[in-house]
Amino acid sequence: MTEKQKTDGRSEGRVYLIGAGPGDPRLISLRGKNLLEEADVVVYDRLLSERLLEYVKTGAEKIYVGKSSGGHTLGQKEINSLLVSLAKKGKVVVRLKGGDPFVFGRGGEEVIELAEAGVAFEVVPGITAATGAGAYAGIPLTHRGLSGAVAFVTGHNAADKDSEPDWGALGRWKGTLVFYMTVANMEEICRKLIASGLRPSTPAAVVENGTKPKQRVLVGNVENIALKSQRQSIVPPSLLIVGEVVRLREDAGWYEKLPLHAKRVVVTRPAKQAEGMADMVSDLGGEPVLMPSMKITRPTCIEPLKSALRGIERFDGVVFTSKNAVDSFFHFLFGEGSDSRALKGVLTFAVGSQTARRLRGYGIRADLTAETYTTEGLVERLGDWGGLNGARLLCPRSNIAPPDLIELLRAQGACVEQVEAYSVERDNTNYEEVQKLLENDELDCLTFTSSSTVENFFAAITPESVRGGGVVVASIGPRTTKTLQELNLPVHVEAKEHSATGLLWAIVAYFRAEHR
Ligand code: SAH
Repeated sequence: MTEKQKTDGRSEGRVYLIGAGPGDPRLISLRGKNLLEEADVVVYDRLLSERLLEYVKTGAEKIYVGKSSGGHTLGQKEINSLLVSLAKKGKVVVRLKGGDPFVFGRGGEEVIELAEAGVAFEVVPGITAATGAGAYAGIPLTHRGLSGAVAFVTGHNAADKDSEPDWGALGRWKGTLVFYMTVANMEEICRKLIASGLRPSTPAAVVENGTKPKQRVLVGNVENIALKSQRQSIVPPSLLIVGEVVRLREDAGWYEKLPLHAKRVVVTRPAKQAEGMADMVSDLGGEPVLMPSMKITRPTCIEPLKSALRGIERFDGVVFTSKNAVDSFFHFLFGEGSDSRALKGVLTFAVGSQTARRLRGYGIRADLTAETYTTEGLVERLGDWGGLNGARLLCPRSNIAPPDLIELLRAQGACVEQVEAYSVERDNTNYEEVQKLLENDELDCLTFTSSSTVENFFAAITPESVRGGGVVVASIGPRTTKTLQELNLPVHVEAKEHSATGLLWAIVAYFRAEHR
């Protein structure tokens, strides 16, 4: 139930018909995303990105009704009655539809049925395929001096003769025409347009999988575009855009120029951190494939950490080697009823600028930060600091942290207490899909952000499928590279700056050099 409904005292269900946008999951509206997070049930179609379902709260029901041309999983009538019955059970139902629900989405039929059944509903618009694909293909649908009108036309009216467009009017159309559902009938559409008086040389474009990393755009004219599409085996979902505005693509195109355009990049980081990195891949035009190799959980044995926190003033300093260590440290510190003031008089050391930034989020400025993400870097800086003789240091780390940092610190004369602050466990969700993509040579890059991501990834995936293939192996730094090399794997890219951003920029540089 939404907050608003609670305060209204309404307890009956409600259906939100939400437009998910044309493909790129980042194109959903803010209201759409907020409602997805609140829903008790989400009823969704085929063309949608799985990533949108990650917004759905744990425990909410997700019902796939797989509307695709032809093979319906549930008929429209059944979908309508499903929505009515869920709402009548008092559920907050999100009906998530591709593009905009009211543009060739049969959203009208669904809400009329809801209205007749007395079920409350709201409609949240989405970016329709025409405007989405127009934007990502660099084809403005209207343009001063070129096109002062746009028509959205269905190219699929076999089942519904009443929707047959007025071809005479379309042939005389002084603007842009966008045909949805065109793949099967493109030749017929173009023939009818020409027969109705449209100049055969009128520019035309087909956009396949618009706004998605695998977007393809073909440009031609009304006379040849159908044949071009056939030759290039264009498949649904595709749009046909007809009009002078197609010419603007030459200057207005941008999506294909993004540095990781059409590259499939596997992100092996633990699920919680993977999202940020996946977003960066999308921002660079690539397609992230998530295969979280680990999940972060509570420490297996919590007492040593708690007892260290209770007596934190015993230590001269705390060494933080990761953002997870910082989060967990403060989570349990706050849990003890304490706060950041407990670190008054205690020095804080951070490995990596990200770790230092996370500390600042808790109001702590690290006394010393090793810029590079290597524990050796910290020890070096500590040497500059004037040595560690007799210093009592607390080091909250994961259950699988390698012992070398502790050994190095001890060798410098420090008295180190290492406690488990979080536990890292193997998590190989999605590995079957990744293995299949690897075997079919459909992946462009594998990213590894720590030795444990390497170890866990190759516990599930056979190294042979990477050794001989064309996939680029990218490592965050020397330690991770070493682990990869120990498995006899090629390392094509090693980041100079040891962070996820640094890694992605190194990958961009690699692909750029490769294409030169
Ligand atoms: N309600 C949707 C349209 C559903 S009809 C909307 O507003 O976009 C399905 C048709 O939409 C497909 O046959 C195709 O013509 C078009 N379409 C949907 N997604 C598309 C995409 N990513 N790229 C190109 N066309 C798309």
